[in-house]
Amino acid sequence: MLLINNIRLPINHSEDDLKRKIEKKLHHKITSFVIRKRSLDARKEPLYVYTVVVEIPDEDKYLSKDIRKYDEEDLRPEYKQRNETCIIAGYGPSGIFSAYRLMEAGYKVIVFEKGKRIKEREKDVEKFFKEGILDENSNVQFGEGGAGTFSDAKLTTRIKDPYIDYILDIFARHGAKENIKFENHAHIGTDEVRVIIGNITDYLISKGVEFRFDEEIKDILLDDDRKVTGVMTLKGNYNCDHLLMGVGHSAYRTIEVLRQRGVYIEKKDIAIGFRVEHPQSLIDERQTSSLVEAANEYFLRYKGEKGVYSFCMCPGGMIIPAMSDKETIVTNGMSYAARDSGIANSAILIQIFKEEFENGYDFLHSLERKAYDYSSSYKAFAQNIKDFMNDELNELIFESTYPLGTVLYDFNQFFKKEDLKIIKEALKDFNRKIPGFIDSGIMVGPETRSSCPIRIKRNENYESLNTKELYPMGEGAGYGGGIMSCALDGIRIANALILKYGKVQNN
Ligand SMILES: Cc1cc2nc3c(=O)[nH]c(=O)nc-3n(C[C@H](O)[C@H](O)[C@H](O)COP(=O)(O)OP(=O)(O)OC[C@H]3O[C@@H](n4cnc5c(N)ncnc54)[C@H](O)[C@@H]3O)c2cc1C
Repeated sequence: MLLINNIRLPINHSEDDLKRKIEKKLHHKITSFVIRKRSLDARKEPLYVYTVVVEIPDEDKYLSKDIRKYDEEDLRPEYKQRNETCIIAGYGPSGIFSAYRLMEAGYKVIVFEKGKRIKEREKDVEKFFKEGILDENSNVQFGEGGAGTFSDAKLTTRIKDPYIDYILDIFARHGAKENIKFENHAHIGTDEVRVIIGNITDYLISKGVEFRFDEEIKDILLDDDRKVTGVMTLKGNYNCDHLLMGVGHSAYRTIEVLRQRGVYIEKKDIAIGFRVEHPQSLIDERQTSSLVEAANEYFLRYKGEKGVYSFCMCPGGMIIPAMSDKETIVTNGMSYAARDSGIANSAILIQIFKEEFENGYDFLHSLERKAYDYSSSYKAFAQNIKDFMNDELNELIFESTYPLGTVLYDFNQFFKKEDLKIIKEALKDFNRKIPGFIDSGIMVGPETRSSCPIRIKRNENYESLNTKELYPMGEGAGYGGGIMSCALDGIRIANALILKYGKVQNN
């Protein structure tokens, strides 16, 4: 096979144009090709830049600066009948992809998920969004697919890892559009990701993975040597050889149980803030061309005494209530595949160092409760950004997409004085980068669940530092943030187990 780089085409081109361009570069006719990567070069007249793979005879004849030999790696693990049981706690991205890989390697896998399957979960989330009635076990954070199910399902990550292709391929095999495998800014959208996750679960069930939805792990079972031997739920005890914990950043009760069992856990830095909303047209207009894909996004970063940055930008999306506890308020963002709400939202977060709090969960929950106490309902805090900058409080310039309504609140009361100064400097900086950012935007919040306040420290074999056969993974263990990084973490853990007795890759 040949890998051909640097094939440049104008934005509006057809598949035939691409085929002709490949043939021109090769000076040879081809019957088919596979796109490996497509990125945008918007430095001058916007162009798409492709990398493709083709199969033709006498490959050596065609080699050049942009054309090299290529061997497709088979990233699936070696299959062996293994007599060991892996229990996976939590079925978010880390749980899903560790389960998938361990199944492929031949392990017996049992998944415990405290929330419900998607169809039931959708009803609970809809009820909350419409009527404000929250189910603490089935919500935006908890249930089949984990926290990323009611999201934009952006698949971007700054991590470079061969297993990214493996993950994207699994998404595509279970219903995602093929373009996620090569687009630079791929996103699936909440409507489509829900179907895909359901398909993956059905497939895993058909391959023998056992699922226990609606069943929360309440405790872990340890022997005298501090080795995990199983888990306890309200339905009974279950033995296992390995326990993979991917319970997410909202499972503070489970983390407390681990702490009581003596599992080594340390504090880590977090970030807090709010969401901003703007007319999507304001974001699009600042780009070189409205045709340019991903022109609808932004990533803003300000480095003062503390970092302030935009996070999880959802073009054409909506702000949602993302709490898992009653009488608290937590905001987050999601969008449908079409990204057509006309409103852009994104979190604006400031770093909070671990020295600034005693217990991170208590610190975050006090902010979430403060918001609920102020509004006496699930209505979120809201303020015009320009009013925040000028210490004023006026009617919102437009209504937020947050479905449960908002109350006017002065965010100057929310942050520490020193942090306020940095946030305002950052917003001025963002306004220079996106003119109108201050005058045309509103802020809605609080946003407190973008990061996890603890890390369950692991050794070089990905095992807990002081508890054998406990493998903490994903965001709730402090080892990921986002769908792809948590999925990759799940695969890392699965590979560590597979390596004990077999080969981690087929070739
Ligand atoms: C609204 C929203 C939008 C987001 N949008 C994006 C996005 O567009 N792109 C992106 O990359 N990231 C996004 N994220 C972040 C991303 O979803 C998370 O980083 C990721 O889901 C974390 O994966 P995880 O496997 O570590 O845990 P989670 O996805 O949090 O899953 C943990 C699971 O464990 C279960 N659980 C908890 N305790 C127990 C227990 N004791 N027993 C059994 N089960 C338990 C929970 O019910 C949950 O389903 C978003 C998050 C939210 C909330």
